[in-house]
Amino acid sequence: MEYVRMAEFSWSVLEPERGEFRFEWLDEAVELVGDHGMQAVLCTPTATPPKWLVDERPEIRQEGPDGTVREHGSRRHYCFNSPAYREETERIVRAVTERYADSPHVAGWQTDNEFGCHRTVRCYCDDCAAAFREWLRDRHGDVETLNEAWGNRFWSQAYDSFEAVDPPGPTPAEHHPSRLLEYARFASDSVVAYNRFQADLLREANPDWFLTHNFMGRFPTLDAFDVSTDLDVVSWDSYPTGFVQDRYAGEASPDQLRAGDPDQVGMDHDLYRSALDRPFWVMEQQPGDVNWPPHCPQPGEGAMRLWAHHATAHGADAVLYFRWRRCLEGQEQYHAGLRRADGSPDRGYHDAVSAAADFAALDDVGHVDAPVAVLFDYDALWALDVQPHAPDFDYWALQEAFYGALRGRGVQVDVIPPDADLDGYAAVVAPALHLVTENLADRLTDYVASGGSLLFGPRTGVKDRHNKLRPALQPGPLTDLVGAAVDQHESLPRRLETRVRRVDGTDDAGGDGSAPDADGTSPFVDPDRFGFRTWAEWLVPDDAVARFVYDTDGVEADRPAVVENAVGDGRVVYCGVWPAADLADDLVVDLLASAGVPHSARLPDGVDVAERGGYTWVTNFTSDAVRLPTVDPDAVVVADGDQGPDEATSNGDQPVTVGPFGAAVFGDHLVDGLVAEKN
Ligand SMILES: [Zn+2]
Repeated sequence: MEYVRMAEFSWSVLEPERGEFRFEWLDEAVELVGDHGMQAVLCTPTATPPKWLVDERPEIRQEGPDGTVREHGSRRHYCFNSPAYREETERIVRAVTERYADSPHVAGWQTDNEFGCHRTVRCYCDDCAAAFREWLRDRHGDVETLNEAWGNRFWSQAYDSFEAVDPPGPTPAEHHPSRLLEYARFASDSVVAYNRFQADLLREANPDWFLTHNFMGRFPTLDAFDVSTDLDVVSWDSYPTGFVQDRYAGEASPDQLRAGDPDQVGMDHDLYRSALDRPFWVMEQQPGDVNWPPHCPQPGEGAMRLWAHHATAHGADAVLYFRWRRCLEGQEQYHAGLRRADGSPDRGYHDAVSAAADFAALDDVGHVDAPVAVLFDYDALWALDVQPHAPDFDYWALQEAFYGALRGRGVQVDVIPPDADLDGYAAVVAPALHLVTENLADRLTDYVASGGSLLFGPRTGVKDRHNKLRPALQPGPLTDLVGAAVDQHESLPRRLETRVRRVDGTDDAGGDGSAPDADGTSPFVDPDRFGFRTWAEWLVPDDAVARFVYDTDGVEADRPAVVENAVGDGRVVYCGVWPAADLADDLVVDLLASAGVPHSARLPDGVDVAERGGYTWVTNFTSDAVRLPTVDPDAVVVADGDQGPDEATSNGDQPVTVGPFGAAVFGDHLVDGLVAEKN
């Protein structure tokens, strides 16, 4: 153990009444951390303003869209735009930072805790209304420009002044999509500004501290890329068996309930690593059963070790478990710690000890060097959240369809915003680039023309930056690059046929005609027919060539669904459907081949293979052992520990195996051509 994070919710203990500070307990804890050769990461306690403060200044509280006040009694009940709360924040942050500015045992600070958790990014109070109007004035200049930008003649929604624009409260029908997108941006920007306010205070107290914030998993309302610009280290809180229950599009499998989904967790690892393009921290690693998901199954044997390895393979430089000991009081009594209520070691403690011993065997692992980027756009997420146009349309899930296919081939992926530099990526995937400016279209065209390989998903190039359609067919400014236009789109209930057919392959009628299974995989074996779900676009190629057409008897029959275009030295593929896993894999393998990116054979679901530095990690999120017939037993650096009889070892002529919920590390680059099979 090297780091101890403390005091993230301790305002009422640090300052039981205004101006009466009690630092002795924290002084003692910081000294104790130092005495044991560790470093403290302290937190500004602003996620929990104490009762006396709420009573004195009730205007700091958040309000919901209907005006319901978010009262004291849990956490995250303050408004990011409250001038009163800025004053109180400055007071408490100055007090705690001055106390520890000269401590040799404090390495850095976490701002607040899990900004926006419990859906608290968006507040609708009077302070937010005033701040929203100023934010709009800064962006639009005059209200006529705003009316034109949003298209406010529709349903008589024009404003005569910025003062007339309110936060979007309850209405009989849906809100204007441009207004909702702007409120989502404004709310996220409000958190960015509040975090920057804290970061400036912390750097003023001691510029040598590192600053971080602990983001949450699959977090939909806060632009983590924007917040991260004011941080030195990005961290996040990883709860794999919670996430598969409360923020997962499908129903979790038994294995996922025991260990989580490596792609769901991995995409967050990769997003937070990519935010600053440097190693990240897991600030809270699930230590066992937790209190907040619908159910709390015990993690699989060794799962807490597995998660530490998986995080490290994806670029983590530190994994901190939350919490040290099960809490005897308050809301989180059902949240495990590394130690049980009586202080004795719990299951997670033993796993943490194993992981620490494993990592001690590794040399410097460096930074992840990802050859492929997935473009993740919070604007697109928010716009599609406003107009999903299908009950089962979910931006994260569509991203994961493409991300999962890349991960299923052992490829490291950076998850980056669309305005990031694309130089250095052999291939780029943009699953649903919904809002596209001319500038972005030019940058993507340059990327392809100079030799890049680009794969677009559906619902790309639909809107301008104000969330309005253009006077042009989709994909708007990307039409020349794609070499095709979208003639029609449709969202599809499950009982309509959803199948495409390759047109440059063996075009035999091999299928049995049945619809794909609920998970999107095809029930028939035909290398040229694939399922899709939810969304379909009828493409009309101009310069592009059709690669897949709709293989149905419906109105879309035989129309192009996937097209390919050569532009300059590069190549672009536009996929007009939400691909099932088999189709996503087919498209991704084609992309990786054209970009010259080494990759593995298709990995079994729940198995993750990742290279970092000179090492290759194999992490197994399933209850089956995994055989690695292409791996030389001499390459084993960290075997699968004492997790049971199926450990990763060299055992005579037997192939290397990784046991259920196990993890192993190999001292070589092994992804190219790697085969992994479930036992
Ligand atoms: Zn507010």
